Order: sequence, then structure tokens, then C-alpha cells
Amino acid sequence: MARWFPDGMPQPMADAEALPWWEAASEHELTVQRCSDCGHMRLPPAPVCGECQSFDLHLTEVSGRGEVYTYTIVNRPIAMDQQVPFIVAVIALDGAPGVRMISNLVEIAPEDVTIGLAVEVAWEDMSDDLAIPRFKPAGG
Ligand SMILES: [Zn+2]
Repeated sequence: MARWFPDGMPQPMADAEALPWWEAASEHELTVQRCSDCGHMRLPPAPVCGECQSFDLHLTEVSGRGEVYTYTIVNRPIAMDQQVPFIVAVIALDGAPGVRMISNLVEIAPEDVTIGLAVEVAWEDMSDDLAIPRFKPAGG
């Protein structure tokens, strides 16, 4: 059953593969899924490795730093009380080759965002058991 944030946006719903990822996130640990057999890393978590079909997968913590791979600026609210503009970005995570994570950029004006901008995770605690990783300029 969907739960909703005050601004009208739906809260994330974890399936069996994603639940451990969200549990780590609630402790402010940003993780990626890594294959124990071939080392391939991915997000979001999946039941089987896309490279070697292994089921032996685990989560490994990353630094939370990375860079903006690409982004877009949303100027129309998706939910009723959502503040605009906001920035949706694809983040290339340090220490996780090939892994790109979709999130939001915060603490930066839309006109200041650039491709390649160094960013770091900025946890937003939504409740006792839900933290969402957004990203802000590194060292800012
Ligand atoms: Zn593999």
C-alpha cells in the first residue's frame, strides 16, 4: 500500500531485492549491489547478476561521492504541493564503475549545475526508518 509524503509524492516501496538497500539507507549507508562471482556492480538491486547470471550478490558500501552524469530541471510539479523547480540528476558513483544512480540535487541553484560537477550524498530523513539519498555539491 502506498504511503505519501506531505507534498503528495509517493514514498519508495521496497521489494525483496531492494529492502536491504533501503535498510542500509536508513542508517545513512549508501550501497550498491556487487556480484560475489564476477564483481559486477549495479543499482537498483536485482535477484540475479546481469553479467554472469550468479545469484550470489551482496551490498557493498560506497563513499557517497560521485559526479553529475546528466540532469534535468523540472519546472512543473508532479504532485500537488511539490516545490518547483527541482533537479533530477543521474549520478556516476565513485568506487562503483558503471553504476549510475538517479536522484535529486539539493543545495544548488538549477543554473549552477554542470555535467561533471563533483557531488556527495546528502541524506534526507523522512521518518525513523526512511532516509532518501539526495546529492549536493561536494565540499559545499
Ligand atoms: Zn556476476
